[in-house]
Amino acid sequence: MSPAPVRVVNPATETVLAEIPAQGAEEVDEAVARAGAAFPAWAALAPGDRARLLRRFAEAVEAHTEELALLETRNVGKPITDSRGEMAMVAEVLHFYAGAVDKHRGATVPVAGGVDMTWHEPLGVVGAIVPWNFPAAIASWKLGPALACGNTVVVKPSELTPLSALRLAELGLEAGLPPGVVQVVVRPGTGAGRALVEHPGVAKVSFTGSTEAGRDVMRRAAATLTPVTLELGGKSATVVFADADLEGAARAAPAAVFGNAGQDCCARSRILVERPVFERFVTLLVEATAALVVGDPEAEATQMGPLVSAHQRARVAGFLDPEGADPVAGRGTVPGGPGWWFPPTVLAPVAGDRRVWREEIFGPVVAVAPFDDEAHAVALANDTPYGLSGSVWTRDGARALRMARAVAAGVLSVNSNTSVRVATPFGGTRQSGFGRELGLEALAGYSQVKNVFVSTEA
Ligand code: NAD
Repeated sequence: MSPAPVRVVNPATETVLAEIPAQGAEEVDEAVARAGAAFPAWAALAPGDRARLLRRFAEAVEAHTEELALLETRNVGKPITDSRGEMAMVAEVLHFYAGAVDKHRGATVPVAGGVDMTWHEPLGVVGAIVPWNFPAAIASWKLGPALACGNTVVVKPSELTPLSALRLAELGLEAGLPPGVVQVVVRPGTGAGRALVEHPGVAKVSFTGSTEAGRDVMRRAAATLTPVTLELGGKSATVVFADADLEGAARAAPAAVFGNAGQDCCARSRILVERPVFERFVTLLVEATAALVVGDPEAEATQMGPLVSAHQRARVAGFLDPEGADPVAGRGTVPGGPGWWFPPTVLAPVAGDRRVWREEIFGPVVAVAPFDDEAHAVALANDTPYGLSGSVWTRDGARALRMARAVAAGVLSVNSNTSVRVATPFGGTRQSGFGRELGLEALAGYSQVKNVFVSTEA
């Protein structure tokens, strides 16, 4: 029996955007079989031809940026200016990996008695499991390198936000990708994701989502020894020293935690501020938070939209004390009426034993705490099981580098809160997962090295 259709809702209006037929276990099997059938020809394509098709795919995305951006904004509730940026990134990712197809070289290795060389070979069918916070962007981070290496891909978006992945797959086909090379399966709950992870026809699982689900993915993938890349949760810190450009750090802080309504694995949801400037920083942060434009995601001026679902809003609200005992230093405003709104909220000072300090909130709530010196800052920054990203604000270059070494994170920024660039590797350590997306480093996750020795003995 097929599952009930997936009802896709606009989080800003709570209206139904689309009803999509849900795919059952059989349809996931069929998608994997089609991807498996498409694999040999795709892998055997001349590199130049594969690169050309990826470039055409990128151009198709560019030609449909506005349409895709509006689709993403309506489905996720993110500001339209953010969605445009994300669609530009999708195209850039595809262009970048189109350029990588014929530069993913092996090596020749000096050995006795012959010639030894290494080849990068594709793996086969990749299962790409994607969360709801950056549906198109994260799908592209997996599609780009996987396709460039010669794999075929079955994308499993979150059932909350499947629309942009479905449209991307259509655009890929229109751009000339052979049928079966990119497919999308949509089904409510964890069924389709689990089916992909456990499927013997899937050669690699690239998963982005929560740490809890990541553990389940790894456990299930163990049965078939399927390799996994896990991009999981985070609880990243911004560390602001007294010598920093305080105004600049405070101006940049809201976007780093309230961007995408805090539903960002890299959200700097903790800010550590050196004690002498703590009060001043909190004042500046509260002012900047109050000035944040929260409202209709389709309006050009909007900086923050609603949360993705009623469930997510309840989850975020659950981090705050219902009796109002939290140290709320300031809050932004939200529109009335329908939509899953949650005001951007600054908590300061927050003690280290609070849930808001230790756990990933995935909503627009930031916890601010003072520190005394560099060693204290490192201890606080690392006082989390996660290790995804983080920022250090200081004018002392040597200290910036010491901090960058000492903070446990896969991605760290100095005097900036940005973590993601197409050409640079992105990913976490500790409970934030392993493996790298983006950059040339991502290619390693979608290929295997074959070592070939040729004897030159007469
Ligand atoms: P989630 O883990 O609930 O779901 C992510 C995706 O995995 C969805 O498509 C879901 O259907 C599927 N899924 C869930 N359980 C599964 C299972 N057991 N087996 C196979 N598939 C399964 O996460 P979410 O709520 O969609 O997204 C929020 C989480 O994602 C946050 O924890 C966030 O930090 C994390 N995230 C991490 C990154 C990163 O790059 N590190 C990026 C974005 C989001």
